[in-house]
Amino acid sequence: MKIVKLKKENLFPFLEEISKEADLWAPTKVESDRHKFQAIDDLDQIDIEYTRTILPPRKIILPPTINMFQASDKEYKEDFSHVSKKIIFGIHPCDLHGLLIMDNFFTHEFYDPYYMESRKNTLLLGHSCWPDENCLCKSTRTHIIKEGYDLFFSKIDDTYIVWIGSSKGDDLIRAKEDLFEEDISDKDIKKYTEWGDERDKAFQTEINFDSLRDLMELKYDDPLWKKVGNACLACGSCTNVCPTCNCYNIQDRPVLGENYSEIKRCWDACTLENYSEVAGGENFREKRSDRLKLWYTHKFQVYITEYGKPGCVGCGRCISTCPVDINVKTVGKSLDGEKVDSFWNRLDKEVTK
Ligand code: SF4
Ligand code: SF4
Repeated sequence: MKIVKLKKENLFPFLEEISKEADLWAPTKVESDRHKFQAIDDLDQIDIEYTRTILPPRKIILPPTINMFQASDKEYKEDFSHVSKKIIFGIHPCDLHGLLIMDNFFTHEFYDPYYMESRKNTLLLGHSCWPDENCLCKSTRTHIIKEGYDLFFSKIDDTYIVWIGSSKGDDLIRAKEDLFEEDISDKDIKKYTEWGDERDKAFQTEINFDSLRDLMELKYDDPLWKKVGNACLACGSCTNVCPTCNCYNIQDRPVLGENYSEIKRCWDACTLENYSEVAGGENFREKRSDRLKLWYTHKFQVYITEYGKPGCVGCGRCISTCPVDINVKTVGKSLDGEKVDSFWNRLDKEVTK
């Protein structure tokens, strides 16, 4: 793998050059400590000193609602208008791992052209990060990344060590080659490894995902699920913010005044009540506890069987988002035998939906 160096003051000239060929997306600050990925008009909008964005970068590749095709009694017209050339700058390792899982999911059994066409037109530029108290990526071994990016920027003081991960990434560098240097000195390497050691020590939260896989199986009928279900508001937020969640619903929307329908594909969430509802009104997972059990079975168990790694990449979004403190950390502790206040101190009146 080729590695080059970029001075901090040369970052914006580089981004300016490459954004001539594609829409540039990057993290921006929206409220005091909240960030989101946004299409950038002005490079000063970028705030790279972020910890996590509200929604993961999968929203850029596959937006919450897309039109898949138009259908009338005479014709069928595919719609790929969500596909355009994009560059996403500033993606942290956990979210790059999330996209690797999405790539795998949308190709390993059935090829999903709506995801893949957009993905193939999107270049991923990663960026190093520093953990806060909700970051679990060291436990999921997703705090470092060796593949799945075109370029990766590791910021060390006033310099970036830039890892080139693909030929497309190499082409980007060549667009403004004069900004980069090739001489990585021993001093740079020392600084980089020291920074990595310090960052490893900065993680405050650890979860044993290996044991959670077994605990999920052993405690499938444990009363803790009733507690968790009673506390859950069934808002679906945990699912929408998770970088590895990929469920969607298809809606047939007739266009009033025209003789065709638009077939829409919208993000869905298995934590919502109507997710498992079928024709005739039957619902296979009417209880919140059953829906959460499904979600955590996928995160802690099914993905390991299917893809060899957990369905959690440790981004911490469910921790900072769930209004009633149900997340991988608290559910993991509960499975491990701890009584978590947010579930155990609530009334025992069972919520059936
Ligand atoms: S389960 Fe939670 S911490 Fe893990 S990837 Fe999803 S949102 Fe992030
Ligand atoms: S676990 Fe939390 S975020 Fe998820 S649906 Fe329930 S209340 Fe909402």
